[in-house]
Amino acid sequence: MRSFRIGTLFGIPIKLDLTFLLVLPLFAYLIGSQIEAVADILNDGLAAGIDTATITSGLMPWLLGLAAAIGLFVGVVLHELGHSLTARRYGFPIDSITLWLFGGIAAFSEMPEDWRQELNIAVAGPIVSVLVGVGSYALFFVTPESLSGVRFVLGYLAVLNVALAVFNMLPAFPMDGGRVLRALLARGRPYAQATQQAASVGKLFAVFMGLFGLLAFNIILIGVAFFVYIAASSEAQQVTMKAAFQDVTVGDIMTTAEDLHTVEPETTVAELIQRMFTERHTGYPVVEGDAFEGERLIGLVTLSDAREVDPVEREAYTVEDVMTTELQTITPDSDAMTAIERMREHDIGRLLVVDSAAHRSADRPRGETLREDDGDLVGLISRTDVMTAFDIVQQSGVIAPSSRPGRAD
Ligand SMILES: [Zn+2]
Repeated sequence: MRSFRIGTLFGIPIKLDLTFLLVLPLFAYLIGSQIEAVADILNDGLAAGIDTATITSGLMPWLLGLAAAIGLFVGVVLHELGHSLTARRYGFPIDSITLWLFGGIAAFSEMPEDWRQELNIAVAGPIVSVLVGVGSYALFFVTPESLSGVRFVLGYLAVLNVALAVFNMLPAFPMDGGRVLRALLARGRPYAQATQQAASVGKLFAVFMGLFGLLAFNIILIGVAFFVYIAASSEAQQVTMKAAFQDVTVGDIMTTAEDLHTVEPETTVAELIQRMFTERHTGYPVVEGDAFEGERLIGLVTLSDAREVDPVEREAYTVEDVMTTELQTITPDSDAMTAIERMREHDIGRLLVVDSAAHRSADRPRGETLREDDGDLVGLISRTDVMTAFDIVQQSGVIAPSSRPGRAD
């Protein structure tokens, strides 16, 4: 992972992403290099009475820039804690809070689909930011005018935390304001539809933000625009899939064992590649034994496994040498969404579908390399299977799960 843990607050791990280490000195530099202009704004707007001569001498601009940048990111952590603690109050576990290039991310393992809960979780962050801004202003107010540096940092944080709250409330899904918008839309329509509408508004905002960033030569704004656009698309797709795949199981969309092409461990890599080419499959379960003594699943071999062997050596290597024996499996009655999430989590293209119930009743030997919970191979589910099924559901609006008779529609 590119991030490391720096501590724990309220039982939630706080992590720093490596990109954050780039952005912290950059922020310190940007604040330090504009210190006089910012001090003038604070003097005009808040009657700060900051003596610009003291804060611009020697290393002072850079020290104050660093202090303000750190203060800003403390504000971001508090903002994310606002979201996290509200979510936890509703019973959603929080994995971590990570500081990265564009601020903070609170990672939830699941998101609420109840609009009231989402609304409260989304507004909690900006509310905390406003409170941090007000708190900074109160401290600024009681700090004597002789301490120009401290007044500069506090005045700066007062303004910026409020600005952060306002910026986050832009209806650019998946930013906070966009989540508020989705929550409000979800009052009157299905969750997936509300998400798609909020995501469209979010993408539109991202395009405007990006154009504005280009015109203003603001790289950070362009970066945020890209991030918003991609995040809005992917979250909308995920929610749409989840809605489309409601009640669809792995068993409904997998390639069943009868239709499955398998290879033996003795097959050479050269033969395997030839078969992949003619059958246009890129992954095969590796099966040992025959129909008489019972077939045993011992591994999975994919095109990328085969490609690791040098072309000139492909005659000398067999499937057994290159196959994966650490198998990721799933049961046929699992949700299709679970399969997608598991593939994404392990960054793999296919899962073996095994029936653990069938396995427990059968007492025959099995591959030692397989894990304890592995049972009989009943099929294989690939990303392609899932995407094809998703296309069909999207275009036809239905999927006909033949395997579950008696389903009430
Ligand atoms: Zn937020």
